[in-house]
Order: sequence, then C-alpha cells, then structure tokens
Amino acid sequence: MIIYGPGQLYQSIKLLGSGSFGSVYLVKELNTKQEYACKIISKNHISKYDASSMIQNEIRIQASCNHKNIVKLYSYWEDCTNIYILLEYCSKGHLVDPKTPFNDDDVFQVFHQILSGVNYLHQNNIIHRDLKFENILIHEDGTLKLCDFGWAVKVEQLPVPNVMCGTTDYMPPEVVSKCCLDFKLDTWSLGILLYVLLYGRFPFKGDNQDQLIRQILYDQLIIPSRNDTNEELINLIQALLIKNSQLRPSIEQIYLCKWMKFNMKLHNIFNHYENEQLKLKVKQKNITLKVVHNNQYSTPNKKMVNSHYLESKNDIDHKPTSFGKNHNSCRTIKSISTNPSPQIPSQMDKFFNFLENIQKI
Ligand code: ATP
Ligand code: MG
Repeated sequence: MIIYGPGQLYQSIKLLGSGSFGSVYLVKELNTKQEYACKIISKNHISKYDASSMIQNEIRIQASCNHKNIVKLYSYWEDCTNIYILLEYCSKGHLVDPKTPFNDDDVFQVFHQILSGVNYLHQNNIIHRDLKFENILIHEDGTLKLCDFGWAVKVEQLPVPNVMCGTTDYMPPEVVSKCCLDFKLDTWSLGILLYVLLYGRFPFKGDNQDQLIRQILYDQLIIPSRNDTNEELINLIQALLIKNSQLRPSIEQIYLCKWMKFNMKLHNIFNHYENEQLKLKVKQKNITLKVVHNNQYSTPNKKMVNSHYLESKNDIDHKPTSFGKNHNSCRTIKSISTNPSPQIPSQMDKFFNFLENIQKI
C-alpha cells in the first residue's frame, strides 16, 4: 500500500500494532528509504467515538515533546478517510511484562529511562495518564521511549478534573474513585511498573474489574519476600504505591531516594536533582567546593558509589568530586542562601534521606 503524505510517498511494509483507536504500520519513505512508524486513525472511528479533540490533543502534546525517551512525532496529515501520524520507528516493539522477575540492576536499567521521560513530561506540565508496558517502546539502539499520548493532558491548572483514563491495572485510587487528578497519577503507574519488573506480577489483580478496583482502593500492598532485593528499592515501591496521592513522592523525590542516587552514581548517570541538592547545601553552609572534570569517572566504577562529594570549608582538600557534568576546571562557590530547606512530609522521611543529610551539615 502507498500512503500519500504532504510532498512525500510512503510504502507500508507491515502492521506493527493495533490499539483502541488506530493501527500502526512500519512505512518507508520512497525517496530516502527512511523508516518510520505511521499511526493511521480512521475518521469514521473518530466520529463514532466523538474522539476528535482527543486525537488533536494527542498530536499537539506529542509534537511538542523533544526528549530521547519519548517517541518523536515528525508530521501528521489527513485525507478524506484517515488521519496519519508519522512517528519515530522503534524496531524492537514494546516492553512486555517480564515472565521472570528482574534483578535490581536490570530493574534500574529499565526504570531510569522511563523516569527520565516522565520527568521531562512533568517539567513541561504534561501528565501521561497511561504509563504501561505496552506504551514503552524499544528503539533499535535499545533506548526506551514513551508513546501513546492519547490520554495525556497538558495541565493548565491543578487539580485536573477526573476522567476514567488509562488502563485499570495501572490506575491509582484517585482515578478509580473519580477524585481530582494531578502529576502523582503517573507516579503510581511508575510504582506498578517497578513492582511488576521486580516481582513478575501485578500487585492488584482482581478476578474482574470491580474486584480489581476494590483492591486498588482498599487492599494493603503485599511485598513478596525476595532475599536478593535491595531494601531501598522496596521502600521506593511502597512510597510510589501509597494510596493517598499527596503522600506519594514527586519525580524529584524519586531521583533523591537512596536507591536512585546509588544506582545513578554506579552507572555514572548525571542526577540533576542530586546536583541541585548539593548546590543548596553548599549555599546554605558557605562551603567552598572544588570541581574537577567529570571524565575522571568516565568508566562506570563501583568505587564511585563510595566516593563522597567533597565539601571543604577551608578549601584545602583537592580530591575530585562528581558534582556537575560539564565543568572543565576548578570552580569555587561561595554564598550564603536565605532559602529554607525543602520541606518533605514526615511520612517520606523513611524513604528519602536528603532532609536528614541537609540537617547533618
Ligand atoms: P491504545 O490506546 O489501545 O494503547 P493506540 O491506538 O493509542 O493504542 P498505540 O499505543 O500508539 O495505539 O500503538 C499501538 C501499538 O503499535 C503499540 O503498542 C506498539 O506495539 C505499536 N507502535 C506504536 N507506535 C510505534 C512506533 N513508533 N514504533 C514501533 N511500534 C509502534
Ligand atoms: Mg497504546
């Protein structure tokens, strides 16, 4: 089949997947031979389900995104029968629920990429509202990318009025109980993804929809016993699956939990929020900080985990730190901040150590 795009012709190669609204095909641009995924949505279908504003919203939001962990939307057009959305092609399909539980390190390798995409969305005031394995695609180079912005919402004002959106297995209590929504909706879905990666099954799995909803609302989270699992990771999962959305950690707090900080250092991944936290500490304490180019740590090295940031009041210690990622030379920071320490709900203290660390200085 040949698809006529604006100024381009595309040959459809094969069906990649079908969802509730569209079918997605692998297509090749005839001139350049470049491959894309093309989502084709029938206009009959759109009018039958009165979904035109939903599709427009999906296109507007996804086209506005530019991040390595989000599928790029290159162009879109329509003819008299269909709407066409031309997307970055992810040749390795979507993630599937793991048949056997992952170990901590594999969980981190998957989770930090999803988190990076969700962090970008939340920073741009977008709630995805349908985070699930089927909506996380794998690019040829192995990078994970979020797709399917059909339920995504650009937040103008919080809270967002409720609509039953997404997929029940991943829905937080505030969605199934039809309360107002905010960014913490995605945080719950991240908790479900983490749980399934680690335990190979969903935390709530009713025999039918009503039972599942009751479990999400009222059942206590059961953490299966697994000897090889890091306690900090379990703490994080428990925090993400707190039923009261206000007590659930934000994306920033996830980046500041012990498990993320540890693993990001271990894999030499820059943690922006930890860096900001360190800057705040430095400001508050009038500390002099020496910074040395980060490429001293270019090879992931377990020793890094134990290498603490250098903070020297007397400016006499010259050991390198991993503060910042683009510094080429030493830099001194001297200022006294009037900013108060960040306030974290007391329930979070168990999970997040950064308040504790700030107070120790
Ligand atoms: P639903 O709302 O039911 O989840 P949908 O109609 O919104 O589905 P998508 O989730 O966007 O459709 O896509 C359906 C499936 O098509 C995906 O699960 C995936 O398998 C495949 N797919 C979508 N986009 C791409 C892409 N860019 N590259 C490769 N495969 C893709
Ligand atoms: Mg989908």
